[in-house]
Amino acid sequence: MNDYIPLSMLNDFIFCPYSIYLHSVYMESDEDLFKATPQIKGTIAHQGVDEKKGSTRKSDIMSLPVCCDELGIFGKIDIYKQDKKLLIERKNNLKQIFRGQIYQIWGQYFCLKEMGYKVDRLAFYEISTNKMIEVDMPGEQGKIELIEFIKQLKDYNPLSTMFKVNPNKCIHCIYCNLCDKTTNDNVYT
Ligand code: SF4
Repeated sequence: MNDYIPLSMLNDFIFCPYSIYLHSVYMESDEDLFKATPQIKGTIAHQGVDEKKGSTRKSDIMSLPVCCDELGIFGKIDIYKQDKKLLIERKNNLKQIFRGQIYQIWGQYFCLKEMGYKVDRLAFYEISTNKMIEVDMPGEQGKIELIEFIKQLKDYNPLSTMFKVNPNKCIHCIYCNLCDKTTNDNVYT
């Protein structure tokens, strides 16, 4: 995989490497065919931002397409508060922040940085609890970690990489119904 990779794939790859194969296969298909409930909720959570309803402040930039040539990634940010130099990613529920979600927001940060925006703080906003949760900036070490992770993702080949199916993950996987590695349905069906 030599092309630029979407930021949303970073979290998928940590959850299950095979899912990025499905992510690619089904990205162009009818979303209703494979989206499970959590992802639909996530889409709705982002809809407000995509439709520019997430904030009325003129200084807030919402739903901006971003890209980073250095890391080979692209995607969209949720909200960038120019006055606070704060980048925010909205989530419906955040019982736990997974490493893939951190990589996603770090990726957004590096895109913005390369595009000339100054970002001093990163945060997740949990919609269900109306809570802002700040996370660390990547720093040099975080950048190295992210670059290595992106390399692993780009090098991944589902045909040549050993892969062990984890049924506990499959039942919570949004691609479960279309995945050839399991015959079970996910819990959202
Ligand atoms: S259904 Fe299971 S094997 Fe298939 S992508 Fe999801 S987690 Fe991976």
